[in-house]
Amino acid sequence: MSFSQMSIRQLQQALRDGKTSSVELTRACLARIAATDERINAFVTVCAETALAAAAEADSKLAAGEAGPLTGIPIAVKDIFNTAGVRTSCGSRILENYTAPYDATAFARLQEQGAILLGKLNMDEFAMGSSNENSANGPVRNPWDLERVPGGSSGGSAAALAAGQAFATLGTDTGGSIRQPASFCGVVGLKPTYGRVSRYGVIAYASSLDQVGPLTHCVEDAALMLGVVAGYDPADSTSVDCPVPDYLAGLDAGVKGMKIGLPREYFIEGLDPAIKQAVEAAIEVYRGLGAEIVEVSLPHTDYAVACYYLIATAEASSNLARYDGVRYGVRQQGEGGLSGMYEKTRAAGFGDEVKRRIMLGTYALSSGYYDAYYLKAQKVRTLIREDFLKAFEQVDLLLTPVAPTAAFKLGEKTDDPLQMYLSDIFTIPVNLAGTCALSLPCGMDGQLPIGLQLIGQPFDEMRILQAAKAYEAETDWHQQRAPLD
Ligand code: GLN
Repeated sequence: MSFSQMSIRQLQQALRDGKTSSVELTRACLARIAATDERINAFVTVCAETALAAAAEADSKLAAGEAGPLTGIPIAVKDIFNTAGVRTSCGSRILENYTAPYDATAFARLQEQGAILLGKLNMDEFAMGSSNENSANGPVRNPWDLERVPGGSSGGSAAALAAGQAFATLGTDTGGSIRQPASFCGVVGLKPTYGRVSRYGVIAYASSLDQVGPLTHCVEDAALMLGVVAGYDPADSTSVDCPVPDYLAGLDAGVKGMKIGLPREYFIEGLDPAIKQAVEAAIEVYRGLGAEIVEVSLPHTDYAVACYYLIATAEASSNLARYDGVRYGVRQQGEGGLSGMYEKTRAAGFGDEVKRRIMLGTYALSSGYYDAYYLKAQKVRTLIREDFLKAFEQVDLLLTPVAPTAAFKLGEKTDDPLQMYLSDIFTIPVNLAGTCALSLPCGMDGQLPIGLQLIGQPFDEMRILQAAKAYEAETDWHQQRAPLD
């Protein structure tokens, strides 16, 4: 088996057995980045020297028998995670010169367990987008078809994996940004429950929705990565102090007797026939494995996209107020003193989509409109969350498509923001409900991967991982690799 087909646990074994070294794995990733990234554009920063130095150190630790679960494994993180000493630009011109003095907790935890940082990954500016076309660093291309988008906003995190440039990556998911790119690029993506993983040191987009999670080649790796990053962090008051189960130990429990719900509202017209077929085939796999399949209803689904685009933009307009040229990033001097400087800095520093959202959010929060828009959206959000909680009284988890289509063409939706927003219809409700969900490869539309979404009860990541693992054991979609050479 080549290293690129191995799980992290298998790689760890190979490292401990001396079949390879961290330096060799790191060199292989750096070589792959050099050979492919001119076409993919997944990396915005590559830390070759520090990665090789860290790999040499990891090899000494391995030789001394002091290895943690990620010792010597080369990974990369979305450019939204603060990494001390390595630039964090968040896909924006306004932060193009920003280097944080501290690490985000999720990244620090990976590093404490021995992971090697290869570099920082391209993304939509401030994580606003579904195609990675809103990046100051240029678009990312999908390794399965270079004319297509990798999804967004964690497009670099998904494409880097699909291109074989790293063994695991971190992304963030506010309305689908881990799951949709994972689905478009044929990898596994896990959005944990809100509160499960610390967001300390992660640049904020919409704070009541943002969550950190792993993208990996297989479910076992997702379980391993989640186990490392999850858990209470006193530095993030929204992280929840509840025990983190041993996700790896419980992974093989199977789905016999599990009740899986199919939300009626997710199997609609507009769902591409190839997606429908792949998801229906996956349902049959679960039935064959002894799961009970039940139809359920999430009646407020239709309102989710509108509700999300009020709440997310309102929170974004407030979070992004801090980029004023004084405290962070790039400054542009303007006429008219301080406010002239603010204006010029923000006009030059933010891209069009970010500006659109700041304006939408500011409008929704303005006095006179607050009740009609923001407050109403908060109420609808509660109804959406209750839909999920009610469904979970009947079933253990929900099964849905991740997106209505496979990866679309670059430029196909850039002129029509509403079409772009609507493509997130199956992922956004999960963030509004604050629960967990996972995307895993379940078929192909021609040569493009298709993703299956499993939605779990709050803090029950274990169950969706078990169900995903059971599916993976029956099928080989996760072993397919992009034909990139
Ligand atoms: N596509 C959605 C948006 O543009 C979700 C992005 C995300 O999850 N960060 O807001």
